[in-house]
Amino acid sequence: MLVAGIDGHICELCIEQAYEIVQEEIRQHVPKDKSGKVDFSAFTPQKLKDHLDDYVIGQEAAKKFLSVAVYNHFKRLAMDKTDEVVVEKSNIMLVGRTGTGKTLLAKTIAKFLEVPFAIVDATVFTEAGYVGEDVESMLSRLLHAADFDVAAAEKGIVYIDEIDKVARRADNPSITRDVSGEGVQQALLKMLEGTEVNVPPQGGRKHPEQKMITVDTSNILFICGGAFDGIERVIAKRLNTSVIGFAKQTGQQVDRDNLLNYINHQDLKTFGLIPELLGRLPVLTHLQSLDKTTLKRILTEPKNAIVKQYHKLFEMEGIELHFTDGALDFISQTAIDYKLGARGLRSICEAILTDAMFDMPSNKGKGVFKVDKRFVQEKLKDSNLINPAAA
Ligand code: ADP
Repeated sequence: MLVAGIDGHICELCIEQAYEIVQEEIRQHVPKDKSGKVDFSAFTPQKLKDHLDDYVIGQEAAKKFLSVAVYNHFKRLAMDKTDEVVVEKSNIMLVGRTGTGKTLLAKTIAKFLEVPFAIVDATVFTEAGYVGEDVESMLSRLLHAADFDVAAAEKGIVYIDEIDKVARRADNPSITRDVSGEGVQQALLKMLEGTEVNVPPQGGRKHPEQKMITVDTSNILFICGGAFDGIERVIAKRLNTSVIGFAKQTGQQVDRDNLLNYINHQDLKTFGLIPELLGRLPVLTHLQSLDKTTLKRILTEPKNAIVKQYHKLFEMEGIELHFTDGALDFISQTAIDYKLGARGLRSICEAILTDAMFDMPSNKGKGVFKVDKRFVQEKLKDSNLINPAAA
């Protein structure tokens, strides 16, 4: 097939090839100097954090830790391999309730650096011999993300979600999988540290006749995330204070509403992660639970904020959408009251605006569409989201 231009034609094969060249160029975006080493003058931890600020609201501590760790990771890649001082990998552990932005942080960083990025769920992995996937299969996701360009994948980022689910538990009720989760932790050790791994290209279980691809994980950055339900109690115990009730006299003021601020590796060990694994995740940081003010900011401030997205949708119909401050307050409060979190904001907006979006294209009306608190209350009253019958 030939596509006609002004002065000539291009065939479909050339289009595809040109596309690949462009993609390759984009992938190599991390600024490099002439010798091919990462150019540090072009990006700094502050620049990384500024970029995160555009997409992730709040979570200052996590953003700072992440920016420094990623920056150091790239410094490490650029280091002379013959140097006596070998900088170790700075894999990262993010602790925070679900829906507080852990995945979003990892995703945003990977997008900025334009490196291959894979999200995997630790719950699907099991120790060899049990029903489930081998830990190596997480690298096949990364290979997919890198279009099987092994060199690119070897500089990628893997986000391992729900790492808390492989914690060693005395009371693990599951009988079909790895009894303790510890086997999975053991299997992760080598990979996090850096080794050559034979990866089944299609993922899943390795089997003997399969062709394998060898991937070196020494330069892959692993970011682990987990909610660690109940970790506050562990922290409180260590701090000799109680989650509910009065703090015992410790001589030190403890902010009991934000116990996560005090989290350390010891707490994760008590929770059931093995020390060897924790040793390979030296950077530990936490994400705060989202309060009403933060949720309201999430609605409007990020570059692809939900409100901005609806603005765009309405604008394409020639209608100017306007949310009043009261409406935004009410939406954030609803997300808090019904424990819907940041993920729920989108469902709430959808419930509010579906009727309008249904009618708009047929009416072809122009003008301003105002969403105030009364309108929101009215629409949410009948929605399943906050209807007790649906809960
Ligand atoms: P988790 O912590 O469970 O990995 P996610 O990162 O997947 O949570 O967050 C779910 C969604 O909630 C994101 O896609 C994003 O839209 C929104 N969100 C959560 N936290 C924030 C935040 N701090 N700033 C902006 N959006 C957020």
